[in-house]
Amino acid sequence: MDISSLNRISQDKKQNLDEVENMIKAKKIFKGGAAVPHRKNTAEMETVRMGVPEKVLIPMLQHIGAPCEPLVKKGDTVKVGQLIGSSDKYISAPIHSSVSGTVVNVAPMLYPGGFHVTTVEIKTDGKQEVHEDVKPPVYSNKKELIEAIRNSGLVGLGGAGFPTHVKLSIPPDKKIDTLIVNGAECEPYITSDYREIMENSWNIMGGIYTLMELLEVNKVYIGIEDNKPAAIKELTHLAKTSEKIDVITLKSRYPQGAEKMLVYSITGRKIPPGKLPLDVGVVVMNVNSVSFIAEYLKTGMPLIKRRVTVDGEAVKNPANVEVLIGTRLEDVFNFCGGFDRVVHKVLMGGPMMGIAQYSLDTSVVKHTNALLAFAREDVDIDAESVCIRCGRCVRACPMNLMPLFINHNVIKGNPQELKRYNVNDCIECGSCSYVCPAKRHLVQSIRLAKAQLRQASGK
Ligand code: SF4
Ligand code: SF4
Repeated sequence: MDISSLNRISQDKKQNLDEVENMIKAKKIFKGGAAVPHRKNTAEMETVRMGVPEKVLIPMLQHIGAPCEPLVKKGDTVKVGQLIGSSDKYISAPIHSSVSGTVVNVAPMLYPGGFHVTTVEIKTDGKQEVHEDVKPPVYSNKKELIEAIRNSGLVGLGGAGFPTHVKLSIPPDKKIDTLIVNGAECEPYITSDYREIMENSWNIMGGIYTLMELLEVNKVYIGIEDNKPAAIKELTHLAKTSEKIDVITLKSRYPQGAEKMLVYSITGRKIPPGKLPLDVGVVVMNVNSVSFIAEYLKTGMPLIKRRVTVDGEAVKNPANVEVLIGTRLEDVFNFCGGFDRVVHKVLMGGPMMGIAQYSLDTSVVKHTNALLAFAREDVDIDAESVCIRCGRCVRACPMNLMPLFINHNVIKGNPQELKRYNVNDCIECGSCSYVCPAKRHLVQSIRLAKAQLRQASGK
């Protein structure tokens, strides 16, 4: 290669970097992240409804916050929509039966997170009788509306599981001026939000109008990545009904859907470390959550079902499936024709942030947006090698962290040193692990680092 070729490459690279820099300045993309393959195989598949399984396993923890206490016992009969778990703690969300049938067990059972949680096991009767308490909520002020949303059991349906009534209860010292509806859906494979936009766009608009009034905001942005042109078109058309609502086309770059990245990309506001979107005047809600609010206010049916993307190279018939909460993973995969290859890895959630499952005898919970199954050859199982100090993990980190040093100090067991690296700012997006040529287990070590810091502080 001659020197002129080298100069040309260097010039091309510079132009590329300049372009990225300009886009950052123009607030179109955030710093860092990773260009992951999209693999939205199920995007154009209409949602199919799965029938009632023989039994459901409904855990008493399906959200961030305090677990619920079961309100039913073995031998009780239950109906669809009946309250079966609640907590008097503020950060929690009630849990309802998704089926009619008989409670056959209330005991600690394996949870998708890998630990045991008190779970209500219900043998279904197939009748799907609806409980008499299920009726559209009556409310006459904001407090009552938030209480109704709490009673619906709604939590963030994008995968976070944070109780919605808490998110919507804005402290008196905070002022919100913007609602962002998150339709970015940046993880590979998952198309649950996309299908909601394509199938229930009017509900999304209905939910937006309710939230605009509740939050008293003058501006609503619906953020969608540019790999979903049909969704952008659909909501842009409906958004013409109000000058206050705009659809924003976002650059497809992982983790565009993470709250901090989304707020920055759309408003240019930076959320300081340890702070929330509401600290910069923004509430972020997932499209499915917004849509659910409209549906709940019409019907009064609490959160008992959700759409799950079932995909991965080992699944025979990938699909978007409407699943009753508590349905066992094995039943969901069987509904999709089972596996046509030997399964090596099953994930709840996407390949970047999902949680590996070691049993199919756990169940779909409120924040399960995807179930993925892969054969051995689809899974990157190279062993870790030594860090070559290439800095790629640092460049990929959208939170400006230094994953290689966190990893180093976790291995050394040095929690005092870890404090310097703002470990708790990590959103566990996995971008650092994805780009690491040495296959370092960076996200795992960051989770360990958080645990070590908690332990060191005695919390
Ligand atoms: S350190 Fe955390 S936030 Fe940064 S890239 Fe890694 S997982 Fe994402
Ligand atoms: S990307 Fe991997 S190899 Fe490169 S500095 Fe980070 S940890 Fe080390």
